[in-house]
Amino acid sequence: MKIGILGGGQLARMMALAGYPLGHEFVVLDPAKDACAGQLCEHICADYNDEEALAELADRCEVITLDFENVPVTAVDFLADKRPVRPGAKALGVAQDRLAEKNLFTELGIPCAPFAAVDSLAALEAALGELGYPAVLKTRRLGYDGKGQVVIEEPGAVNAAWEELGGQPLILEGFVRFKRELSIIAVRSTTGDTVFYPLTENRHKNGILVTSFAPAAAPAVEPLAQRHITKLLDHLDYCGVLTLELFDLGDHLVANEIAPRVHNSGHWTIDGAVTSQFENHIRAVLGWPLGATRAHGASAMLNWIGAMPDPATGLSYPDAHWHDYGKKPRAGRKVGHVNLNATDIVALQSELAKFAMALGQQLKNEGADAFNTSRA
Ligand code: AMP
Repeated sequence: MKIGILGGGQLARMMALAGYPLGHEFVVLDPAKDACAGQLCEHICADYNDEEALAELADRCEVITLDFENVPVTAVDFLADKRPVRPGAKALGVAQDRLAEKNLFTELGIPCAPFAAVDSLAALEAALGELGYPAVLKTRRLGYDGKGQVVIEEPGAVNAAWEELGGQPLILEGFVRFKRELSIIAVRSTTGDTVFYPLTENRHKNGILVTSFAPAAAPAVEPLAQRHITKLLDHLDYCGVLTLELFDLGDHLVANEIAPRVHNSGHWTIDGAVTSQFENHIRAVLGWPLGATRAHGASAMLNWIGAMPDPATGLSYPDAHWHDYGKKPRAGRKVGHVNLNATDIVALQSELAKFAMALGQQLKNEGADAFNTSRA
């Protein structure tokens, strides 16, 4: 089968890397000339609104999926007349608008932070009166990796926050004092068969994911997370990998956002689970049987942000699984990750310490900040 992907970044690249052994071929559509999936897939270099290019993608492929959620819904609608697009426009529409997302959580009875739509300074002041301080002001659209959001700590900071983000549709959220951040990744096939990966614990720095640990020891909330994401899968008539980001408050979970795609917090599954999220996504969109999601043991995923460390140094530690996305270095950019596996979390801690030592001077690099995060 030839599979089309809207977006040609590292997620598309890792989908292709998982899909080739299953016998598939891939075509990505991405406006960036140097889209890193283009190093291994056919690449149609065009804008997402270019109907000629979209038609060409549909001609070349049997089924189409996506590697990021900000593809215009109109492009997905255009393609959906020609080929199945999985996941479809409904999920995309919700994930593109934080207000629609929060409204859906509320409608489905999935707890989320209190929120209010904000379109003016007066509306912001009124919302702060309701939600109190601190609160998080976010753009409704196009926010990612902590971009497009400001924490408002006190009344004196309101005008500056408005100056930074005002002039576009916004949402104000109450500040959630969570114990930790978790994510659940579910996979639903065209047949409705659904599997869940173990919960993953995620550490962020400046809004960017730096480290994931899995499985997160969370027996109290794991069934709850599965129930929440199942409601979303059913409501959205979903096909493929869906990720739900959650705040863990100990005895209950608060939903933050969904990603209608494979997710950075699932990169550990490449080396740490029986079937990776990428392979299962491909299986799901084709209606193939889903693979087991069981973890082999305990895994850590460390993002390399900005630049890759020297691979020779990194690989001198034999239990490291190296993933270089083939991207040019740039501050704040996710350029690769490393997965480490061990039999259990205690052994993993010692693996992490040894790996940090193996990297030595690389610890000063941005990506190595992950090592400063000691796990409670
Ligand atoms: P987001 O872009 O919504 O995923 O937010 C990026 C990060 O900001 C999250 O992973 C949290 O660490 C933090 N964050 C977002 N929303 C809230 C909130 N309502 N309360 C507390 N922290 C938040």
